[in-house]
Amino acid sequence: MKSFRKQLWFTTGKRRQFINITRQVEECVHESGISEGLVLVNAMHITASVFINDDESGLHQDFEVWLEKLAPEKPYSQYKHNGFEDNADAHIKRTVMGREVVVAITGGKLDFGPWEQIFYGEFDGMRKKRVLVKMIGE
Ligand code: ZN
Repeated sequence: MKSFRKQLWFTTGKRRQFINITRQVEECVHESGISEGLVLVNAMHITASVFINDDESGLHQDFEVWLEKLAPEKPYSQYKHNGFEDNADAHIKRTVMGREVVVAITGGKLDFGPWEQIFYGEFDGMRKKRVLVKMIGE
């Protein structure tokens, strides 16, 4: 069995941002030489997500609006967590959107449904953060 590990780094220009990282994960699969196996992709921070969905800008705006209704960023004082920090909303948004995805690798490719794409979801950005890519297979 082969295994492969790599970290992908992201610094977003905004506090909240979605980045399609599918191509970077595909490059990891290629680099690993694994043709049959599984790839785990997870955010290594508790204020960021990795999730699978459609790469459609309207949907991404819908996520932003829905998440802001669920856990509005402001006022910061509404959250007990915001003593020394201002990112309670980011922790909640990350929990809702998920920590990680696992994708099957078949024939050396990500075995996706027709519209599936992998996204990094940043909820407290403008600083260097990372995503773990871990693969096992043969
Ligand atoms: Zn915090």
